[in-house]
Amino acid sequence: MTEFQVGQQFQDKDEALLSVKTYSIHRGVQYKVVESDYRRYVGKCSEFGNGCTCLIRLSLQQRKGIWEVKRYNGPHTCLATSISSDHRSLDYHVIATFIMPMVRADAAVNIKVLQNATAAHFGFRPTYMRVWMAKQKAVAVIYGDWDESYNELPRWVLGVQLTMPGTVAVLRTCPVQVGAQHDESQAYFHRLFWTFPPCIEAFRHCKPLVSIDGTHLYGKYEGTLLVAIAQDGNSNILPVAFALVEGENAESWSFFLSHLREHVTPQPGLLVISDRHNGIKAALEAPNGGWLPPAAYRAFYIRHVAANFTPTLKWSSTTGLTFCALRIQQCVTGQTELSIRCGHSTVMRVGDSGT
Ligand SMILES: [Zn+2]
Repeated sequence: MTEFQVGQQFQDKDEALLSVKTYSIHRGVQYKVVESDYRRYVGKCSEFGNGCTCLIRLSLQQRKGIWEVKRYNGPHTCLATSISSDHRSLDYHVIATFIMPMVRADAAVNIKVLQNATAAHFGFRPTYMRVWMAKQKAVAVIYGDWDESYNELPRWVLGVQLTMPGTVAVLRTCPVQVGAQHDESQAYFHRLFWTFPPCIEAFRHCKPLVSIDGTHLYGKYEGTLLVAIAQDGNSNILPVAFALVEGENAESWSFFLSHLREHVTPQPGLLVISDRHNGIKAALEAPNGGWLPPAAYRAFYIRHVAANFTPTLKWSSTTGLTFCALRIQQCVTGQTELSIRCGHSTVMRVGDSGT
């Protein structure tokens, strides 16, 4: 561990404090903050006057706009006394800086993995909550924060349309009301539907069925991501359309399904597979939605299509396809419940009493 030097420079206060904290974590000592404001920082060893004289003073060099070590009484002459499993200086800012490369490489990296890596590096085990906060901070540094991300959407849409002509993006906003007046210079995000040209092209060669589902978003503004999934002749699945909406309701599903119908799946006799959400039911049963038989038929899945339906059900032969389509049609038109069997296992059950 290298000691501080008088005259040592840092870009800003954050960088200076990070260095002090990292040093004290590695030395296993605790600092007491004596003074800390926008132009000065003084830290003392917690054992100062008790066998240790370690002290550091940093200040802002106003002309250069950088921070500099002005005084350093080191190294520590105290013994690292704390045998605790945590270290006060190992706060979420320090952890965020440390885990940044891991989050940059994989934004979906598990908190437990980050917690273990932090513990292995610093010798102290931060709480799950603190590592979670550190990851939030790292994600915000890498990807920008939530407000910025939503502000970027119109530019993102334009960018995708420019680089991939034929991209469909429908952005809906709500007016901002100030008193009785509309503020024309601003708008609230409402909904976004989008699909890429390869998705539209690919669907023409896929089976005449589409699975639709929604998943909750756990960011600051919540909302729901709606997705439509298609299957090719080899039972590979591919997403063909997306929407960001406020949540699952009849209006948001209508928004998604009408644009899906118009831009991606105009084929007649399509099978729509979904869960039993009332919003989907209302949207599919709307008189002018284009989803009523014979334009489209509806089926429910009991297990997730992507996980269970795809690998087991054999659609490769024409007879198989006809058989399944026939059974599904029987189910939609008459029987309340029906199981499609492949070999010895039930792979899909459709009908009114399943879910
Ligand atoms: Zn000390």
